Amino acid sequence: MTYLTRSTLALLIFVPLMGPAAAATQGPRVAVSIPPIHSLVAGVMAGIGLPDLIVKGAASPHAYSLKPSDARTLNRANLVFWIGPEMELFLERPLKSLSEKARIVTLIKNESLHLLVDENQHSHDPHIWLDPANAAAIVSVAERELSALDPKNAARYGENAKNMLIRLDKMDQDIRRQLKPVAHIPLLVFHDAYAYFANAFLLNVVGAVVINPERLPGAARASSIRRLIRDSKVRCLFREPQLQSSLLTSLIGDQDTTTVAVLDPLGALLVPGENLYFDLMEGNARSVVDCAQNN
Ligand SMILES: [Zn+2]
Repeated sequence: MTYLTRSTLALLIFVPLMGPAAAATQGPRVAVSIPPIHSLVAGVMAGIGLPDLIVKGAASPHAYSLKPSDARTLNRANLVFWIGPEMELFLERPLKSLSEKARIVTLIKNESLHLLVDENQHSHDPHIWLDPANAAAIVSVAERELSALDPKNAARYGENAKNMLIRLDKMDQDIRRQLKPVAHIPLLVFHDAYAYFANAFLLNVVGAVVINPERLPGAARASSIRRLIRDSKVRCLFREPQLQSSLLTSLIGDQDTTTVAVLDPLGALLVPGENLYFDLMEGNARSVVDCAQNN
């Protein structure tokens, strides 16, 4: 067999395999747990590759169980980003066994993120990305991790991260301006997921219907929520996209100054990718403004 024939054979075998996947295999294999974090990492990787997303669509990371295809995605990853067991408990065990061959970044443990903690230094709400300052910190962490793993593309990661930080800053200022006039309006959210959003934009969130979105309120909880809605003069009660509004309208009863609107902590109905984080935050801000001003 001549050299020419051998390389022709090699081409015949490898070219079809490399076709569509070629772009994605240039950079490192990165897996990200949930859509908003995936979006921020995708922005840093723009032009180099696309990270894999584990929890897609309307699935809840609080009650997820790993599918065989997710296990395969994790197994081929060199780098994994997740919030931590407070958010994605289902990943705790798989990531422990993966940690010998892949770099695992637990964002809630990163000291550059700003955590809301009580007097015992406990933090309760793991939805840390809803504060844009944390999104910026996550972009910088992603840039550092990707550059360390893939130094030949470090300049590109740096440039992408810089652009993401500029875009985040502009978004933050826009949302701040929009929400300022409604800061005093009493709001009630569905699950305990908006401490970071409320803290970042100084919103008056008086409470949450449930702590765990997988458990609907019992009779006692429902009656204390009805009292809260009445006594705090709650203007907007926010459901999440996957939840029917009938439960919340029953909590409102004949309180006709309260309306149900939608807030989404995760991007359940949005297209994954680098724009998702911005669509998520801007959509939530618009929803608060529309509800608070129209009542
Ligand atoms: Zn949640």
